[in-house]
Amino acid sequence: MTHRLAVVVPTPAHSSVAGPLSYRSEFPLAAGTLVRVPLGKREVLGVVWDAQPQDHEGRSAQGDKPVAGALEGLEPLPASWRQVVTFSANYYQRSLGEVALAALPPQLRDLSTVQLARRLKRASGDAPPAPAACAMDLSAQQQQALAQFDAGAGPFLLFGATGSGKTEVYLHAVQTLLEREPQAQALVMVPEINLTPQLQERFVERFGAAQVVSLHSGMTNPQRLKSWLAAHAGAARIVLGTRMAVFASMPQLRLIVVDEEHDPSYKQQEGARYSARDLAVYRGKLEGAKVLLGSATPSLESWQACEKGRYQRLAMPARVGDGQLPAVRLVDMNLQPKQTVFSVQLLDALRQRIGRGEQSLVFLNRRGYAPVLACNACDWKSECPNCSAFRVFHKSDRTLRCHHCGFTERVPRACPACGNVDIAPLGRGTERLEEHLAELLADARRPDGLPPRIARMDADTTRLKGALEAQLAQVHSGEVDVLVGTQMVTKGHDFRRITLVAAVNADSALFSSDFRAPERLFSLLMQAAGRAGRDAQQAQASQMWVQTWHPTHPLFTALRTHDYPAFAAQQLAEREQAAMPPFGYQALVRADARTQEAAQAFLATASEAAQGLPDAGHVAVYSPVPMAVQRVANVERAQMLVESTSRAALQRFLAAWQPLLQASRDKGVIRWAVDVDPLAI
Ligand code: ADP
Ligand code: ZN
Ligand code: ZN
Repeated sequence: MTHRLAVVVPTPAHSSVAGPLSYRSEFPLAAGTLVRVPLGKREVLGVVWDAQPQDHEGRSAQGDKPVAGALEGLEPLPASWRQVVTFSANYYQRSLGEVALAALPPQLRDLSTVQLARRLKRASGDAPPAPAACAMDLSAQQQQALAQFDAGAGPFLLFGATGSGKTEVYLHAVQTLLEREPQAQALVMVPEINLTPQLQERFVERFGAAQVVSLHSGMTNPQRLKSWLAAHAGAARIVLGTRMAVFASMPQLRLIVVDEEHDPSYKQQEGARYSARDLAVYRGKLEGAKVLLGSATPSLESWQACEKGRYQRLAMPARVGDGQLPAVRLVDMNLQPKQTVFSVQLLDALRQRIGRGEQSLVFLNRRGYAPVLACNACDWKSECPNCSAFRVFHKSDRTLRCHHCGFTERVPRACPACGNVDIAPLGRGTERLEEHLAELLADARRPDGLPPRIARMDADTTRLKGALEAQLAQVHSGEVDVLVGTQMVTKGHDFRRITLVAAVNADSALFSSDFRAPERLFSLLMQAAGRAGRDAQQAQASQMWVQTWHPTHPLFTALRTHDYPAFAAQQLAEREQAAMPPFGYQALVRADARTQEAAQAFLATASEAAQGLPDAGHVAVYSPVPMAVQRVANVERAQMLVESTSRAALQRFLAAWQPLLQASRDKGVIRWAVDVDPLAI
């Protein structure tokens, strides 16, 4: 007897143009089974989605093709996994095939049955019992948070100050679960790869290496497959990972932790632009797993969900061991001499720390030496020939590098336009800041009488494998007195000896056209402040310095008192008035084309076509505009904002719009995509 199967295969990006394809099999295959099937001239990996599909019109020819083989020995993917994928594809307006296949480890495609069986055997050994292992006494507020967590259904938002011991709460929540339910699994997510090694260390220390696997994009394909199989087989009871881990197949998932839930890294920025935080909440509800979001500066979406009673708030306002949050010092740059980069007050404070053998952290959101190289004789600037952006001057290797397309050239000896040899950097990046600071602090002395050691940490210094770990180890072991870096250094690290953090150029975000800029700046500064004074003994004297031209801005008033609730209330009031998220819902349609006219024309045509859609009355479609960085790698980019006060109406509208968008596309358009709940507009 022949069985008809609907199989999800890697298909083009847009959801309305590709559903599952029909294949036949001599054997019945359960939904969720991984199969190899012919597609065109290739053989591809697919997932059986449905064992008795409806007969799709026009797909009968494909339907005649037989399945080439099933991946034997592998349990079918659970129905809940298929549902999470289906939801993601629908919600984020992409094809099922694209989302499903991207969620699976690439190596599954290439393994023979024998190879797979061998790896499965290794992955599915019985998990050893959890070692119970914690010597730490929980603080009263940690105990209270855990008791509330235990008693409630969630989703929970753990609103805990930096250094309040949130990680310890996650560890305990996981531990209680694993002890209570012998099969249960927990998923723990962090925003950045560079935070996974530290978290992994803490979990391995607590639960043993056999229980814990990681899933993130920094892994090799064999490593990723190994982790994935262990999670899928239930042998790994704890999966730690970045946003991609939200799609891990975990048959006994009972708990999902999302650390630093406000972090923009949870939003995927290409393909299906999903929010792993939002999917975690969806998945938790679907599978009956408790969801625990944590942050010192929650996203306004999550905060509002607490205000409305949709999420349960667990508050831990105090630092562990009576540690204090750093005192915030604002330096009014209007009162400083012109061209001042470091105010005298800040330099004095840095010298004092150096003299006491304490560490300081100075951050700036711009890597490289200087954002632009300019000619003093004519108006030449180091523009990128391929992008509407300047190339950044990197002094260490004397290159001009485009941070958008990567185009790199040696710094010219003389101005390419007029031949003048006097070309000079404009503005500052971390590299120049480090150099400048080293000069200014050359006369400072450490307790041992030696000059201070100044180091830099950013995407440039950590590019090589292992470099980040090595640099972090140097900071932790006290081999660095002043660390200069980008926001990379402000996130999550448990630095023990830092007593001063300084933001030298924070203002640009205050007047951004992006309505989320203040939210991001506030959380960045609070996170940065959180790196200081984590050791209770030193906390008394710890400080957060902010140099600003706008010291009376309300954002800084809230920062001074570490008052996130006040900041959130003020921002939410503004957003409510303007019907912005979380009070309204947005999507962006983006288009890439050879010319800006073609990109905008496509969007305009699609916008017109949308006027006839049933939900058009509830959805506002704005005019197409060029993107902030309009041209990247010689591709012109445009976008169009779509807004509604109803999420459901927006969803229906977008789904109905897909085929019209696809039809509006003409030759000049290279690609287009919808970004639902965009983080930057
Ligand atoms: P957060 O994630 O909230 O910033 P962490 O969980 O990293 O805070 O905790 C900060 C520091 O305090 C860590 O070094 C951690 O080991 C320590 N810590 C956490 N809870 C306790 C506790 N109950 N007793 C003593 N130290 C603790
Ligand atoms: Zn010139
Ligand atoms: Zn470029």
